[in-house]
Amino acid sequence: MKIAFHGAAQGVTGSCHLLSCAGKRILVDCGMYQGSRELVEDNANDFGFDPAGIDYLLLTHAHLDHCGRIPLLANRGFRGEIITTAASRELARLVMMDSAGLQEEEARYRNRRARRRGKAEDHQPLYTTLDTFNAMENFGRKARHGEPLQLAPGIRATFIDAGHILGSASILLELEEDGETRRVVFSGDLGLGGRPILRDPVMPPPADVVVMETTYGDRAHKELQPSVEELYDAINATVKRGGNVVIPTFALERAQEILFYLHAGKEQGILPGFLQVFLDSPMAISATEIFKRHPECYDAETADLFRAGQDPFQFRGLHFTRETAESMAINQVAGGAVIMAGSGMCTGGRVRHHLKHNLGREHSSVIFVGYAAQGTLARRIVDGARSVDIFGEEYAVRAQIHTIGGFSAHAGQAELLAWHGHTGNPAVTFLVHGERDSMAAFGSLLRNTRVEMPQLHQEFSL
Ligand SMILES: [Zn+2]
Repeated sequence: MKIAFHGAAQGVTGSCHLLSCAGKRILVDCGMYQGSRELVEDNANDFGFDPAGIDYLLLTHAHLDHCGRIPLLANRGFRGEIITTAASRELARLVMMDSAGLQEEEARYRNRRARRRGKAEDHQPLYTTLDTFNAMENFGRKARHGEPLQLAPGIRATFIDAGHILGSASILLELEEDGETRRVVFSGDLGLGGRPILRDPVMPPPADVVVMETTYGDRAHKELQPSVEELYDAINATVKRGGNVVIPTFALERAQEILFYLHAGKEQGILPGFLQVFLDSPMAISATEIFKRHPECYDAETADLFRAGQDPFQFRGLHFTRETAESMAINQVAGGAVIMAGSGMCTGGRVRHHLKHNLGREHSSVIFVGYAAQGTLARRIVDGARSVDIFGEEYAVRAQIHTIGGFSAHAGQAELLAWHGHTGNPAVTFLVHGERDSMAAFGSLLRNTRVEMPQLHQEFSL
């Protein structure tokens, strides 16, 4: 039995781990590298294994950094079976299609730019929409949380609710080879308990080998409730001034979570009944529709809400604006509106148009509810720039800027430790999906296990 790490090794993106047992090769996740240009270029590199030799791909969840290289894998010869939950399959399709569209657009843009400079360059997308359709053919059995699946003789996989995004899972592999057995558990990305919509993460069973994420391995989490109150206060203050609220939003999970709180705020009379909410992102709208199709993933609170005839994704004053013309019409709304649009870091998408119209207005406000990486437009605004460049023009920042840190889909250090504690005394724990400092800090807290922080493509015998 062997395990090798072909992504998210000493970094947070590109998750891709390969397990070999009893003549079968099982991949857990096949994600995209995201971030700096160098990292993005790494996506085109050799996988470090032969895609045609993979028998099964188990997908923990539908975030791009976990599913984003699947179409490329298929393009390079993978014909195995992809197994994930029903919700993850639908979300992954949306995420991969969106990604293919962006790759194609980027290649066209670079070729056009080269032609304008009189150069003949041939930029190809990392993968195409057609590759994505082809990859979808490989999705086979659907996993259900807590129900073991037999992959091959001596190999069983159980998806365990990870409470991170809709459909997300940790995965337990029970392996048998030459009379020896091993229990290997992959955390996937772990969520936080006590969040709306999703159930809390389910603790893992005892295991011999643990592969776990360490995104927030060195940090505690901010409390959620004060963040929700901060959100309500910022919206109410803006509405009183007669301005609009722009919320740059990630399409998956965060958008639905914020909708949930806006609905609750209106129901409880904390937010004014006349408040108009625009979800101005085709991808977030599609993701919301997928959420509505998967009540099996809801926690008791959300299930009760639906049973009582309420729908946090459909309430008075909420508008889904899919068409460009509808999106542009929002510019006519002078005040009293919450406008949620992507991308979350303002690097692309419709949110830049709304910033253009509202950043210069001191009555309006911009509320950041997610992570803003170095070098992004979101980060410049968060860091207090007096003016910013949007579409090549300079816009003054006069709107109120809020950064609310308590909305996160990732477990903090204490939750990660508690999760690891349930695995008992594993012989070895591999730390992945974290920056070096975060991994080292978390690793130093683990007792009764050997800690490894694998290098890219490093292989271990189990
Ligand atoms: Zn994730």
